[in-house]
Amino acid sequence: MTQYSYIDIPFNLRHTCWFCGEPSNHCVEFPKTASLFAKVGHAPIALPACKECASVKYAKDLTSIWAVRDQIKHALIDKYAKHLGIGENWTEQELIDSEFTGSTLGGFGRSAWKMYQIAKQRVEYQGWPLSLDNIAIEAYDETSGFEFEGTRYASIHSCIDYFTKAAGVDKELLSELVNIVSSERFSYALRIAKLNKNVSNTKRLAIVDEVLLQESEQQEILLEQANAMFNPNIEEVSVAGSTAPVFAIQWALANKVEDLAQLCALEDDYFDYFEHLGGPAAFMSYNGLQLYFEVRQNAEWVEQSDPNKQYWPS
Ligand SMILES: [Zn+2]
Repeated sequence: MTQYSYIDIPFNLRHTCWFCGEPSNHCVEFPKTASLFAKVGHAPIALPACKECASVKYAKDLTSIWAVRDQIKHALIDKYAKHLGIGENWTEQELIDSEFTGSTLGGFGRSAWKMYQIAKQRVEYQGWPLSLDNIAIEAYDETSGFEFEGTRYASIHSCIDYFTKAAGVDKELLSELVNIVSSERFSYALRIAKLNKNVSNTKRLAIVDEVLLQESEQQEILLEQANAMFNPNIEEVSVAGSTAPVFAIQWALANKVEDLAQLCALEDDYFDYFEHLGGPAAFMSYNGLQLYFEVRQNAEWVEQSDPNKQYWPS
């Protein structure tokens, strides 16, 4: 008895590998063992796959189809590192200009660019939405995947592995740079690593120190800018039982909000900025700020009672 049901397959994709988009005539069954059937949250499924994707031995304890996909993609990246490296090290025009004789082409010759494109497409391919008998499979994607320039990697570490293999960068250098500048600025770390492919230990340390220094200087500048934006002499203002807190008035001044109409126009910005306060607290402070602006329309009140009058543009 077959326990796995085929996922729904759009007619135009009926011979397509769900994992990489190549022609398929094999399948991947998930989850791997009957003992996991109860843990995956949907019926056991079979997905059309090409011979290569189907032959990847994914870990038998995986309970998420997305984790399976990540492992298969990683296997493809590993296998085609050389092909992918063509595009990481060359542009198409450089290949044409070199008349396909560069030694880094690894003997691929004229088909080099094509081979790069095929490998890249397979790695980037995102299958179609999963469903069984027209009922969507709600499989939450909880994998810690990392996306860079349109390609999804199983994690930041496999992305680093990829560029180590495909682009020949120094793994230790790239890893340390990513630690310093965070994965959000991966392209910056990669650029430095690509410029320093064969580094000695001494040179690597020097680069890391330099980037560390740059980063701490950058942090200081940002902090100074933030402090400069917010006037530390502001005092809170209470009107009719509501209070405009110091932070709300500072925000208004920093954003050049000077009257009710301008405040209204930036209402969404205000609530985005103070989201961390939670709804009621953000609303109360906004309300206090509104009342403050209202009462500021009265010149006499401003003159006699506004503790911040000298900070507002007149
Ligand atoms: Zn495939």
